[in-house]
Amino acid sequence: MQKKYILGVITLSACITLTQVMPAFAGIIGHSSASYYSAQQEAQAVQPQSNEFKFLRTDMYTYQDMENDINLLKNQYEGVTSDSIGTTPDGRSIYRITVGNREASKKILVVGAIHAREYITASVVMRQVKEMLDYRRNGDTTLDRVCIQYVPMINPDGVAISQSGIDGLIKEESKQKLQAIIDSWSDWGLKENQDKYNWFLNKWKNNLNGVDLNHNFPTQGWEQRGDSRKKPSNEFYKGPSGGSESETKDLMKLVNDENFDAVLNYHTQGQIIYWSNQHASAEVLAKDKAMADIVAAHTGYKLVAPEADGSKFGVGFKDWLDWEKGIPSVTVEVGIGTSPVPETQIETIWQQNAGVLPDIAKYVLGE
Ligand SMILES: [Zn+2]
Repeated sequence: MQKKYILGVITLSACITLTQVMPAFAGIIGHSSASYYSAQQEAQAVQPQSNEFKFLRTDMYTYQDMENDINLLKNQYEGVTSDSIGTTPDGRSIYRITVGNREASKKILVVGAIHAREYITASVVMRQVKEMLDYRRNGDTTLDRVCIQYVPMINPDGVAISQSGIDGLIKEESKQKLQAIIDSWSDWGLKENQDKYNWFLNKWKNNLNGVDLNHNFPTQGWEQRGDSRKKPSNEFYKGPSGGSESETKDLMKLVNDENFDAVLNYHTQGQIIYWSNQHASAEVLAKDKAMADIVAAHTGYKLVAPEADGSKFGVGFKDWLDWEKGIPSVTVEVGIGTSPVPETQIETIWQQNAGVLPDIAKYVLGE
């Protein structure tokens, strides 16, 4: 069955809501067709050994930039570790960064870029790593009492597609898989119209398999959840089964292993906060709301009304946390316009979101 969505939310956020009709082919925002394939080459050409964090810049933030920055964080600060929670179909490591007290009873998870075209959130999460480390360097002792884990880019294959198209992929079989998905939507005119072709890839939201990871979590609502695409595509497709995707499984395993006390999910766009879930217990819901209020106090973002949260047949990461795991979480939609939001928005986004994580940590600690 198809679920009807509340129109007001569709205008606010392209992220969680489900568009039921064939989309309008918007022009490419941020990347002209001419610069589409050269963007990554330019990024790679910018001194890979630089001592400056690339997440502090205002140009496109790539997987390679993140790898450089993780190493730089480990070089410049004590107590930073990183590992991989899984390997994607195209062969990328899904990095986890850990700071704080590994023995602490309280644990927080921060996740970015589950939606590919929302890759600016990876640099937001990376800034949050540095933020906590700077707090400690300046004498704050919060990290003595909490362990914070960050997965800045849970969907790196999808990010590569959104940023660089087919050439962003590593394996030949990956390129063939993406080409097959493109060919399967040829009735949209993707071959005849370069703008439509660029739109399809630049707006890529899914993983390499063409599955929307945030529609792929195996909640009790998964079977009934509507699916406007019904086959691999650049957005929305929920997959062949709940939890079918390796990235979904990797994130679920991390949560099951670590049993976090709170989770922050970063998405774009709309400057709004999803916090509620009709299947959450009263206790979890109260914590969801408390965290949302903290985020709102810093950012000025509006809380999405519970009747518009889409949780009835919710299949996103937050739905799974609220409904199946009883772990409080909020989903923060940063940026304005359409995704990928222009890179220059990072400065405004950071002005809004600086201080959020330190205060969430204090809340989790009851301080
Ligand atoms: Zn999203």
